[in-house]
Amino acid sequence: MSDYYEILEVPKTASQEDIKKAYRKKALLYHPDRNQGNPEAEKKFKDVSEAYEVLSDEQKRAAYDRFGKEGMNGFAGAGGGHHGFSSMDEALRTFMGAFGGQGGHGGGDSVFENLFGFGGGGSGFDGGMGGGRSHARQGASKRVNMTVSFDEAAKGVDKELNITNYVSCDTCKGKGAKDAKGIKRCSRCHGKGQVFEQRGFFSMSMPCPDCHGEGQVITDPCPECKGEGAVKKKQHVKVHIPAGVDNGMRLKMSGYGDAGHGGGPKGDLYVFITVEPHKVFEREGNDILVDLPISFSEAALGCKKEVPSLLNHTCLLTVPEGTQNGKTFRIRGEGFPSVHGQSRGDLLVKIFVETPTHLSAKQKKLLEEFSSLEGPANLPKKKSFVDAIKGIFC
Ligand SMILES: [Zn+2]
Ligand SMILES: [Zn+2]
Repeated sequence: MSDYYEILEVPKTASQEDIKKAYRKKALLYHPDRNQGNPEAEKKFKDVSEAYEVLSDEQKRAAYDRFGKEGMNGFAGAGGGHHGFSSMDEALRTFMGAFGGQGGHGGGDSVFENLFGFGGGGSGFDGGMGGGRSHARQGASKRVNMTVSFDEAAKGVDKELNITNYVSCDTCKGKGAKDAKGIKRCSRCHGKGQVFEQRGFFSMSMPCPDCHGEGQVITDPCPECKGEGAVKKKQHVKVHIPAGVDNGMRLKMSGYGDAGHGGGPKGDLYVFITVEPHKVFEREGNDILVDLPISFSEAALGCKKEVPSLLNHTCLLTVPEGTQNGKTFRIRGEGFPSVHGQSRGDLLVKIFVETPTHLSAKQKKLLEEFSSLEGPANLPKKKSFVDAIKGIFC
């Protein structure tokens, strides 16, 4: 932080009146109510407040003139440190002090009206908020739910939605009044949309109750929209659902919500996705799981199986000789595409070996014959299990 005089842009010989004037002008310019979300303005507001805190006090000023900021260490309070105002509260207290004393106004919104409403800030308010109109508001955002099939989620799909939005009224171009004479500046808040109440050191601002924060009142409303500036309208919206969407995902469609107020931007439309379950497939991340039943003899002898895939074709899976129940085969790149990028999940095929039922006499005979020929080498798992429990039963 540089020199206090430089900050307020006053000469070293400036009178108290000059200092106060200079501070008011700058404080109004950088006031947080006028510069919301602007850290640069916030810092400047703190700086000018700190400078004023010191220079408006003859004792502090004299110490500052002589010793610079080091000279401030002996003083208590906000101007005491030389690290600047740490909190906005301190700066706002200084601000209230500087304006509260004016002409004996104790409080109420009159102090602010005089300064904000009628150009007390000099070149004041055009920085930051585009003319300082505070009643521009974004239109409401909407949520719609959309259900897509498993297939659609895998491939992507274009859908149409019917939504009812508030759109800007054509008749009055969104102004809400029949003509230019039908809008009057709100007399209570003088067009600011905010009223201020002073409680001790603190100033509280709230939306003006007369104009609901709009800063203006409509005396002759537009017959089409009854003064709302917007009318309800059914709209057709095309929504592209990208391939790879999953349950609970949310698509944002910027600007598809309600019209804004007072020149504010449109709201957004949020599409919440539900994916219907599939009869055969299950999803895990971007992988697809499928159970493939094969017969006991197919598992033993090996086989080739067609596995359905979502991508409009079937995959040929070679099940090797001696495949066990529960074995999972991975077919690369046959899963869901990633909704964010180029990658793809896999198709995971889990083998389910089905034990034959309803055997004919001939089948039974063959199986009995087969069974009599089975040896430990055919069934290594069974053998190791039997070996393991021998000790338990003996
Ligand atoms: Zn209208
Ligand atoms: Zn008002």
